[in-house]
Amino acid sequence: MSESGGGATNNNHLINRWTGRPFSQRYFEILEKRKSLPVWQQKHQFLRTLAHNQILILVGETGSGKTTQIPQFVLNAVDLETPDKCRKMMIACTQPRRVAAMSVSRRVAEEMDVTIGEEVGYSIRFEDCSSSRTVLKYLTDGMLLREAMTDPLLEQYKVIILDEAHERTLATDVLFGLIKEVLKNRHDLKLVVMSATLEAEKFQGYFSGAPLMKVPGRLHPVEIFYTQEPERDYLEAAIRTVMQIHMGEPSGDILVFLTGEEEIEDACRKISKEISNLGDQVGPVKVVSLYSTLPPAMQQKIFEPPPPPLKEGGPPGRKIIVSTNIAETSLTIDGIVYVIDPGFSKQKVYNPRVRVESLLVSPISKASAHQRSGRAGRTQPGKCFRLYTEKSFNNDLQPQTYPEILRSNLANSVLTLKKLGIDDLVHFDFMDPPAPETLMRALEVLNYLGALDDDGTLTKLGEIMSEFPLDPQMSKMLIVSPEFNCSNEILSMCAMLSGIIPLIFSILCVCVSFKCSGLASMHLLTYRGLLCDNQFLSLAPNCFVRPREVQKAADEAKARFGHIDGDHLTLLNVYHAYKQNNEDPSWCYDNFVNQRALKSADNVRQQLVRIMARFSLKLCSTDFNSRDYYINIRKAMLAGYFMQVAHLGRTGHYLTVKDNQVVHLHPSTCLDHKPEWVIYNEYVLTSRNFIRTVTDIRGGWLVDIAPHYYDLSNFPHCEAKGVLERLYKKKKKGKEEARKHK
Ligand code: ADP
Ligand code: MG
Repeated sequence: MSESGGGATNNNHLINRWTGRPFSQRYFEILEKRKSLPVWQQKHQFLRTLAHNQILILVGETGSGKTTQIPQFVLNAVDLETPDKCRKMMIACTQPRRVAAMSVSRRVAEEMDVTIGEEVGYSIRFEDCSSSRTVLKYLTDGMLLREAMTDPLLEQYKVIILDEAHERTLATDVLFGLIKEVLKNRHDLKLVVMSATLEAEKFQGYFSGAPLMKVPGRLHPVEIFYTQEPERDYLEAAIRTVMQIHMGEPSGDILVFLTGEEEIEDACRKISKEISNLGDQVGPVKVVSLYSTLPPAMQQKIFEPPPPPLKEGGPPGRKIIVSTNIAETSLTIDGIVYVIDPGFSKQKVYNPRVRVESLLVSPISKASAHQRSGRAGRTQPGKCFRLYTEKSFNNDLQPQTYPEILRSNLANSVLTLKKLGIDDLVHFDFMDPPAPETLMRALEVLNYLGALDDDGTLTKLGEIMSEFPLDPQMSKMLIVSPEFNCSNEILSMCAMLSGIIPLIFSILCVCVSFKCSGLASMHLLTYRGLLCDNQFLSLAPNCFVRPREVQKAADEAKARFGHIDGDHLTLLNVYHAYKQNNEDPSWCYDNFVNQRALKSADNVRQQLVRIMARFSLKLCSTDFNSRDYYINIRKAMLAGYFMQVAHLGRTGHYLTVKDNQVVHLHPSTCLDHKPEWVIYNEYVLTSRNFIRTVTDIRGGWLVDIAPHYYDLSNFPHCEAKGVLERLYKKKKKGKEEARKHK
């Protein structure tokens, strides 16, 4: 085991064992900094414990060096050669967030003085930056789960590190159960579970008393301030607090927690503007945003130093970072002295009864609030401004965030587990077992889609579906699209919907009052200060850009892409126009199209094409001039999304079919009329329930394409049922006539 950080050989400390080249100057500079991180104090103890145990749990404050250092310690201590010496095994380190996987792997590559994508790589959905040389791979927990589908014993890996375990994401929770099983069959495999909070005893219980190592943090005291009265508008309050700090507090960077891209960009603009209005009375600032869809080059900006004072002796410069939850524990930013915590984050909620999963801006937990304030005391004593009352903190915040598995639609995870050969889901070793109703719902959905047969066994179709990194409805739509002679178009549509989904979600912004505390009441959240409808309208949806100054022109541009039958087809129009204009950035600019979203969609499409080819699924299109061109596309959509249909009642309201929830067309829709039947991509839970990305379909198709779902003997009483009855009769009559004519 070498004493230096990056694996110099014993006889020559200046040669990088990975590249065979001498270390750069920068390597030694970073090494000095690394050695001061708290985990280095326990390097030997850690490696000793790992050598003697198959599972190890490591708990340490954010910033103690877990994510960047521990995988390197392991890399330098274990032999990665397989017994037959044919190949090298790898070390995996999972991250719940894509941004963290990318950012941290880049940093570690730099620390090891190697090129990213070679010895150190990362893998996230739709982007693999690793090679045959890779020995240390950072990957999202979801990606490791996908890898397990083709490599059930995870034989590529020698050590698996599940990082950010306290986040309890759905994929991490499933990995817990899975790897626990794999470890029984692979005695050479080791597991390290890393976490930032002390729920560690729970992990210890789950992993049969595995040793627990605690890395003492080096946190400085953080003074907490609460507001006297509840804030009406947390965004405005956050900006006001930034200004107060900048004008009145000594030097030190500021970290503001907000909930999504749109809100963050808005806040950054406002902060920059207000500060520039103050002229040179105050120090210069660098305002930086941080959220999951930010391109990598922009993510790096959070690590840049604050700007120097404008003139010598002038007020100091400050860095102001406005971030989502990513900065809570996933990424450590040095130099933060002030934290502003409005008390919200975007969280998934799921109601199995009506099969609705939504991202909602919801109150954070006490544990989260504690983590957030901790970010202020990394390098010196700091201050945390909580934009809620102390009473609210004590009475309204739950102690911990509920694990995601208790708040999610499980259809996708169940499909993955089935593919992994785990049939008995009820007895699967979940750390927190999901509600039986949620599991039943997932099985039912997969059965309707034809992925599972009536015994719950994975079908051939289900197997192919599990290979696509898409939701089951979407993969079903894609797989059957050749039968409707439109797989090219459905591919583009899937790409448009997947490539920009994170952007779509980030638009969702609701002010939720602090009234909810239990999971049951999560669904009955009491809202206060909701966005009014025209505010909703002002939020640009997904691939369209809508700059404040030129909203009219942007709306006109969007209208030019509009398709009379709905939003899915509008997305398709945008994609086609983008390709016809040779992906030209200036065309995108002129037409208010978000080039980043389109580029990402195009990349997603190419990957989906490859998976289609693997299963010999035909790429085909109906003649564009044929009357059936759009009809076929809409029918194929229905073949996947027949469970997401709403019917327009006589009262003028839409009701979701079977679940009978009143929903409204989202204001962003391009539909200028109210079709009797619509298919929707997304259910948005706010003060009113909206369906977003909506397309007109015909009732007759429901009884043709999904009669098993629209089986009237098993259908709740509603207006739609009457209509369907007539449609079935009509269909029967049509058949009889046809027979007569023969
Ligand atoms: P932990 O996982 O325990 O929260 P990390 O390993 O992520 O800690 O971070 C340890 C330290 O590494 C941070 O305090 C920071 O100084 C440094 N660091 C991490 N990522 C970067 C980066 N991209 N650029 C510069 N410094 C970084
Ligand atoms: Mg970390």
